[in-house]
Amino acid sequence: MGAAPTLPGAIGIVGGGQLAWMLAEAAQRRGVELVVQTPNPHDPAVALASRVVQADVRDAAATRLLAQQCLAISFENEWLDLEALAPLAADGVCFLPSLEALRPLVCKRSQRDLLQRLHLPCPRWFGLDQLRSTPGGEPPAPAGDGTSPSDPTPPNPASSAASTSSPSTSPGLPEGFAYPLMAKLASGGYDGRGTAVLRSEADLQALLQQVNPADWIVEEFVAFEQELALVAARDQAGEVVCLPLVQTHQHQQVCDWVLAPVDASHALQQRARNVAASLLTALDYVGVLSIEFFYGPQGLLVNELAPRTHNSGHYSIEACNLSQFDLQLLTVGGARTEEPQLQVPGALMVNLLGFDDRSPDHPDADYPQQRAALQALPQLHIHWYGKQGSSVGRKLGHATVLLEQQDPHARRLEAMQRLEEIRRIWPLPPAAAGASESVHGA
Ligand code: ADP
Repeated sequence: MGAAPTLPGAIGIVGGGQLAWMLAEAAQRRGVELVVQTPNPHDPAVALASRVVQADVRDAAATRLLAQQCLAISFENEWLDLEALAPLAADGVCFLPSLEALRPLVCKRSQRDLLQRLHLPCPRWFGLDQLRSTPGGEPPAPAGDGTSPSDPTPPNPASSAASTSSPSTSPGLPEGFAYPLMAKLASGGYDGRGTAVLRSEADLQALLQQVNPADWIVEEFVAFEQELALVAARDQAGEVVCLPLVQTHQHQQVCDWVLAPVDASHALQQRARNVAASLLTALDYVGVLSIEFFYGPQGLLVNELAPRTHNSGHYSIEACNLSQFDLQLLTVGGARTEEPQLQVPGALMVNLLGFDDRSPDHPDADYPQQRAALQALPQLHIHWYGKQGSSVGRKLGHATVLLEQQDPHARRLEAMQRLEEIRRIWPLPPAAAGASESVHGA
């Protein structure tokens, strides 16, 4: 079945969360039609979308309906069922980025393979199913062949646990690896859900008891000085443009704030841009791609790739002449892009994470006092995603502060003062029990 677009110009987005919502805002500003596929009529993007296909995001039949209304389709997140979508692409549905470009990006294991293939620097890693066994121990029995990099289904630790390893297993680490290590669920993790710090053999054993090793990778624990991020975009003519390189700061593995631009040498900025250009070009990628980096004694290492707009680029809405959402609309819509420029000396983006649990019928479910107090601060713009209720750590909105200082050192001080001001009104969420070290599989 062909999928001739009936409404030339409309763009489809699978997903209805805050990224789709901010894309819909940009689409409204640009007079572009945006059609959203999402299951919940209360999802943030629904109110701003031109039209909605109300269906689960993994419902490929619904994506086919979406395609009938759109020139091209993008995804809000990378948890895709590529096999279910392949017949649509074969029938002419235009996905941008293409499913082929997305294939190596939907899972951390295949991302690492891609980075190695392109000789791009990333932390050293191995598959949890590649552990050597030591004499006297049973080798861990991988549940899969360990070579299929892109199974998008998160494991169910409860069901895969006991069958995949034995208590007597005593795996040896591959040569050159030592504790601490960082274990990561290859597909389906986010905001630290699906990561586990391994401090000892006992931690490794505990992980092996809980998960399917074929679904996890383990990497060296990187002693980074800073985390950096770059949002890049490639248009259909192959032109690559980038937002300024930024510093990101995480709290319990969730992005807390972003400072733009980072005070980095020209050489470092150029290196980050080269990584972006290499990746986008090698994948023949059209659209926005975000790259998270570690920077420190080991130089610049790629931590993660996100084939979409990203939390680290939200500041661009107010701070740049073209936001990351404009870049997505331009590239996916077939227009030429140009290099985005900062319009101000800098910006600080602060995530507003739920700091307590509030059900949708709580009288202050959407934190009116805190929002009003933030709103009163100078040069501050709030984006409130309109989610139903709150839970600890949930991303409910963000605030962007435009910074005035020209000198990078003075600007960082200004940013940290503004952050303190915001924190007095909007505290960080309390630490969840064992937050950064527990294994959240599903
Ligand atoms: P997620 O997909 O859940 O966001 P990430 O891989 O981005 O997972 O990890 C979340 C955070 O955990 C990172 O931003 C970083 O602060 C920390 N982290 C991740 N990998 C490592 C590592 N190898 N060494 C040290 N810290 C890490």
